[in-house]
Amino acid sequence: MKNNTQVGKYKIVALLHKGYYFADYRVIDENGIKHYMRLINPAKLHDLQLMPGCDQILELTMSQGIVHPNIARQSDTGEIIVDGQRYLYIVRDFFPGELLSDKLDREAHCSIYEVHHIISGVLNALKFLHNQSVPLIYNHIDPEGILLDISKQEIYPILNDFGHARHLNKENHKPYIIGLPLFYMAPELLLRGIYSTRSDLYAVGALMYHLIFGMEPWEIDLNDTTEPIKDVLEARKTPLPIPNLNIFELDDNLLRIMAKALAQDVDDRFQNAEEFLAALNGLTDVKCDNYQRIELTSKTEEHNGSIKKSKGNGFADVAGMTELKQRLQEDVIDLLRHPEKYQKLRVKIPNGMLLYGPPGCGKTFIAEKFAEELGCNFIKVDCSDIASPYIHGGQSKIAELFKEAAKNAPTILFLDELEAMITDRSRHTNISEQGEVNVFLTQLNNCSERGIFVIGATNKPDMIDPAALRAGRLDIKVYVPAPDKEGRKEILKLALHNRCASNIDYDILAKETTGYVSADITEMINQAAITTVKNNGDTIMMDTLMETIKNGINQWPSVTAKQLQEYEDIRERFESKKTLRRSVGFISSENKP
Ligand code: ADP
Repeated sequence: MKNNTQVGKYKIVALLHKGYYFADYRVIDENGIKHYMRLINPAKLHDLQLMPGCDQILELTMSQGIVHPNIARQSDTGEIIVDGQRYLYIVRDFFPGELLSDKLDREAHCSIYEVHHIISGVLNALKFLHNQSVPLIYNHIDPEGILLDISKQEIYPILNDFGHARHLNKENHKPYIIGLPLFYMAPELLLRGIYSTRSDLYAVGALMYHLIFGMEPWEIDLNDTTEPIKDVLEARKTPLPIPNLNIFELDDNLLRIMAKALAQDVDDRFQNAEEFLAALNGLTDVKCDNYQRIELTSKTEEHNGSIKKSKGNGFADVAGMTELKQRLQEDVIDLLRHPEKYQKLRVKIPNGMLLYGPPGCGKTFIAEKFAEELGCNFIKVDCSDIASPYIHGGQSKIAELFKEAAKNAPTILFLDELEAMITDRSRHTNISEQGEVNVFLTQLNNCSERGIFVIGATNKPDMIDPAALRAGRLDIKVYVPAPDKEGRKEILKLALHNRCASNIDYDILAKETTGYVSADITEMINQAAITTVKNNGDTIMMDTLMETIKNGINQWPSVTAKQLQEYEDIRERFESKKTLRRSVGFISSENKP
């Protein structure tokens, strides 16, 4: 339905989501107050969505009269006829925010702090629904069925889709499970359609797992199976698999809670939301060790702000960047390896370094390889782990993070998108954000003494609070530019090593990839490798590479020449700032213009 269409006393302002049988809109009433409206096309409903024996839509009545801070209040229902078609609508309170699934699509996983808030809010809502005189089962605890209200200080979940909810009464309607994720369904629901308060709580366990690890419990590739339900249940015969990650603040108690929530036997699970909440808040002990550690896949590793002991080839994997590697080797690695030797002569151990420049040019990559070279722990922290737009008041989290890094010392603490964590305080209006910057600055002070070397990465160095860049904090600043022709050649050689034909002309490839950033080159080679496998080949041929470059014309370069020039301009402005002249000095990378 178009914007400005009048539906009853409401005017449609914007389409929010569209499903098979419904469309969700933001609407305003005659007083200009915003609401959320679901417009349902009854012609598209499934029998299971209707009251048996009549055409009353179950969704319209499910949350009537329910008032709870974590549940969107239903304020109105009605019907309209448009172009000879009858539509029904449900109006609920409007919350500014996004679906939890949108957040997961963007960030892949949540910090433990966020998980705690989301799960507590969801359990509070379920406690209320399950304790109605006729218990109401939500049946849609998954990232699509939970909205995050961003108007609150803390991350705040709201249940706002009662399309799958059903009362637990004598009539016991069959559940409507079409479109729900299998990995969230308790076995009795999956096999026999039996829902209960405990199947809702099973889904809360699955949600917790998904939010922490960025993957669903006992997840299997559903494209590989013709009998998904059978295979999902088969996979669950093993103890709950726990990816072997050392996630910030994830302790054994949380693992036990997840294992209990996800117990396959309904009697072994939490009996009600109160019991689950008490365990989550540390008020009761959970005894359930039915989980097992599994080795990481690279996918899960990427998704998590995790601590890992860096094993790998170190700088041998890094193409080009010769001068940067050499400087790191001489100025940082030796000092960090043998601090006692230098401290004796009162040589100051460097605290950290800022890597800046266009995206995809290897800032994260060199930081990881640097940790491998040192053989020390590596903690990668994204802005969302610390100061997402939803959470402020993350000051204690920042202190915890540095404490954790010190506990695992020596540690490389990699802070991605530093400008969003330590934003120039003159840009802040919010006291709590300024407080976070102050905590960061305090923590950055002399962290080398605690065995921490901080690497910040950014595309926007001029947005970082200048105090973070002073001596004694991020002492070293390095511009990481897009690779020049020689750099591209080196990356190509390294990435194609041992998997290409002998007649590869690197000069031609380097010329054909002019303007590519490093990530474009590795992605291009990856696609060429996939094509080779699909064509039953076992070495990547020159013509496959040329063909991939030709076909990727709309994909690469991912950063335009104009944008690259803008990054060079930012660099020039940034380097000329007074604060930086006082700093230890630049290390120019191999192709400083
Ligand atoms: P940034 O952090 O600057 O956005 P990344 O570090 O994520 O960029 O780099 C993207 C990818 O490019 C890396 O995962 C790696 O595969 C490749 N890459 C970047 N620099 C190099 C390099 N010097 N040698 C080999 N591969 C590189």
